[in-house]
Amino acid sequence: MQRRIFGIETEFGIRFAPRGLGQLSPEEAARVLFRPVVAWGRSSNVFLNNGARLYLDVGSHPEYATAECASLTDLVRQDKAGERLFEDLAEQAEDHLALRGTEGRMHLFKNNVDSAGHSFGSHENYLLSRRAEFSRLVRFLVPFLVSRQLVVGAGRVHPAGCPTAEAMTLEGGSYSFSQRADYVWEAASAATTRSRPLINTRDEPHADASQYRRLHVIVGDSNMSETTLLARAGMTDVVLRMIEDRVRLPDLELKNPGMALRAISHDSSGRGAVELADGRSIGALDLQREFLASARAHLEKEGSPRPEMPYVMDLWERTLDAVESGDASGIDTEIDWAIKKKLLDGAIARGRTDFSDPKIAQLDLAYHDINQHRGLFYLLQRKGRARQWVQESEIRTATEQAPPTRAALRGGFVDAARRAGLDHTVDWVHLKVNQHPGLSHTCQDPFAAQDPAVEESIRQMLASAPSVPGSAMPPV
Ligand code: ATP
Ligand code: MG
Ligand code: MG
Repeated sequence: MQRRIFGIETEFGIRFAPRGLGQLSPEEAARVLFRPVVAWGRSSNVFLNNGARLYLDVGSHPEYATAECASLTDLVRQDKAGERLFEDLAEQAEDHLALRGTEGRMHLFKNNVDSAGHSFGSHENYLLSRRAEFSRLVRFLVPFLVSRQLVVGAGRVHPAGCPTAEAMTLEGGSYSFSQRADYVWEAASAATTRSRPLINTRDEPHADASQYRRLHVIVGDSNMSETTLLARAGMTDVVLRMIEDRVRLPDLELKNPGMALRAISHDSSGRGAVELADGRSIGALDLQREFLASARAHLEKEGSPRPEMPYVMDLWERTLDAVESGDASGIDTEIDWAIKKKLLDGAIARGRTDFSDPKIAQLDLAYHDINQHRGLFYLLQRKGRARQWVQESEIRTATEQAPPTRAALRGGFVDAARRAGLDHTVDWVHLKVNQHPGLSHTCQDPFAAQDPAVEESIRQMLASAPSVPGSAMPPV
C-alpha cells in the first residue's frame, strides 16, 4: 500500500515527589492527574478535539493514543502533542495538590520500565491491506523488528550489569539499546500480558474489515527524539511495503525471536550472532543491512510518496555505520540511545564511577521526564544536542487540531457535541449523540477526512450551540 494510516499509543510512567510529607501512590497520582479530564469529559476515557484518545485504565499508566495520521511528520506532531497535554495536566495536578497543602512535583516519564521493573508500552499501529497474507507478513517482519532496536531503541542503564545469564557477573553496570527488549518473549500472539509478543495479533482493524487490517506492534520503545520516532515509523513503513508488494526478501526467520531480541539489545557491537531457523547464524548489523539494502533498492525502483523518506534512509544508514564503527558522533543528536548515552558518558567522564552509579540511573530516568523545564531530553534539545523535526508551534497546534484523516471528522464532531451540550459516545469508528440517533455515524474509512453526512450533523449541533466556545481540552 502506498497510503498508510499510522497511530501510536504511549503509556507513561507517573511519580509524585512530595517536597515534605504527602506521598501518593502512582494510582493516586494518576487519579489526580485525570481530575480535569473527568471534569471535562465525564470519563477517564475521552476523545479530544485533535482526534486522539486520553485514557486511564485501572492501573497507573496514563495513556495517549494519537489520532490516525497519514503522514510521518503528522505522527511526530501528534505524538509530541500528547506529551504537551500531559505536561499541562501534570502542572494542574501540582497546583491542585499544593492548594490542599501537598507541595511537590508530578513527574511523567515517557519510558518503558518503572523502578519496580515493570514494563509498559509504546504501541505502533499500521494500516495494512487485508489482501496481504498476515502470517507471511509476520514471518518477514519479525527479524526486522528484532534488530531495528540498533537504530530506534531508547537505551537503558542496567546498574547491576547485563541481565542475560552469561554476563550476570559484569561489573560496572551496562547500557543496552532497548528498554522493552528485556520484557518481550515471543513473536506474535493475541495475549499481551502473559506471553508478551512483539506483535499483538488481535484482529481489530478499526476500519472496514473486508479491506483492511491493523498491525499492532508492541515491542518498540517510546521515543523522546522526534527524529528517532520518524525513523522508527518510516523504516517500518518501507519494510511493510516490501512485504506487501511481495518483494523477494532474504529468509531471515529467527529460531527464537525473544532470545535474539535480548541478546541484540545487550550487545553494543551489533556483531554477536543470533540463530536463524534454518541453522545459520547472523549478527544484528548484518540483519539490518539486508533490510536497508532491500529497502533502498525498492525505493529506487518504486519511489515513495513520503517526503521524509530520504532523511529516514540516510539516518538508518548512518546509525548502522555508527554501531559498526563504535563512533556515535554522527547520530548523537538524532537517535535516542545515542543522545542519552552521550549525556551519561559525559557524566561518567566528569567523575561518576560507571553505569552502576545510582546517579547514572537517575539521569537515565530524567532523560524521559516530559516536563520541558525539568526533563533532560529537553535540556539537551535547548542546547542543540537533540534535533527537532517539527516546530513547537506545530506541536501546540496538534494539541487542538486533528490531522487530515478520519480524525478530523471525529474532532469536529466531539467539539460540536460539547459546544451543544449533547452527551455523545465516540470511538475510532463510531460517532454518536446519545439522545439523537439521527446524528450517529459510522466512519469505516480511516483516510476520509470529509463526509457530508457527518459535516451536516456538525452544522446542526453548532447551530444549536450557545455562542460561548467550548474548550478543546481539559481547561489549562
Ligand atoms: P487498547 O490499547 O485499549 O487495547 P487499541 O489497541 O484498539 O486498544 P487504542 O489505545 O484505542 O488501542 O489506540 C488505537 C490506535 O490505533 C490509535 O493510535 C489510532 O490512531 C490507531 N488507529 C485507529 N484506526 C486505525 C487503523 N484503521 N489503522 C491503523 N491505526 C489505526
Ligand atoms: Mg491503547
Ligand atoms: Mg493498543
